[in-house]
Amino acid sequence: MTSTVTRVLAPNPSVFTGRGTNTYLTGGSALVCIDPGPDDESHLAAILAAATARGGRITTILVTHSHPDHRPLALRLAHETGATVRCFDPSAGQEHAQALSHGDVMRVGDLDIVAVHTPGHTRDHLCFFDPATRTLYTGDHILNGTTSVVHPGEGDMSDYIESLRKVQALQPLTILPGHGERVDDAGALIAEYIAHRMEREHQVLAAARGRPDFTPMELVPTLYAGYPPEVFPLAAWTVQAHLDKLVRDGRIDRIDGGSDTEPPRYVAPIR
Ligand SMILES: [Zn+2]
Repeated sequence: MTSTVTRVLAPNPSVFTGRGTNTYLTGGSALVCIDPGPDDESHLAAILAAATARGGRITTILVTHSHPDHRPLALRLAHETGATVRCFDPSAGQEHAQALSHGDVMRVGDLDIVAVHTPGHTRDHLCFFDPATRTLYTGDHILNGTTSVVHPGEGDMSDYIESLRKVQALQPLTILPGHGERVDDAGALIAEYIAHRMEREHQVLAAARGRPDFTPMELVPTLYAGYPPEVFPLAAWTVQAHLDKLVRDGRIDRIDGGSDTEPPRYVAPIR
């Protein structure tokens, strides 16, 4: 039996969240809720109403990662419903969540859901895969309409690209992202994501070539020519995430790790 999915859009639109966080409900009389979203009274009521409209009760709450637009409402939703919260890192919240590892399969009613560890956006990021319908719930790993932010420190570009290949291998048909509309050509979007990151990496390497001593921000005006300067600080984080991957790959050297106030400095080979 395949199960339909209800989306409940959280009222938290912004430049980072698009129209808001997508909360999903699926299953039969026992329902799974994926990414409850921000701690918001009206969103809690909307999720409970959607569960009632489906004629089910939420028994399992799955969290893709611990960011404030995805996880906080899990606590109150679990309290209201008695549902069990499951995520990669129980210690990052107070829900007494159960830990999930890569490959864990959860059976809820007729539904099997597989946890897929996809670090990159954050270390604790999980995607959830429904093999019966080949639907992939992607949280912030893959979005529709905006690019996923890989912020050095909590994120990691090497892991991120590896995690894209990991979900590509599942050959999903449909992507239900944490922000934006559903995607019915999942394979094409994942391939596009990988191509985009590889192209950016080549551009970063080309912009860095021959520079004896530079910060990520010094590459941004070249790489983001045509973008408004407001995006430059965020772009510098992305460039740094790419540079750190290139350091690990042995293609660029880091000469100073930076600090809270000073950015790291890099040196690129002559050719
Ligand atoms: Zn996030």
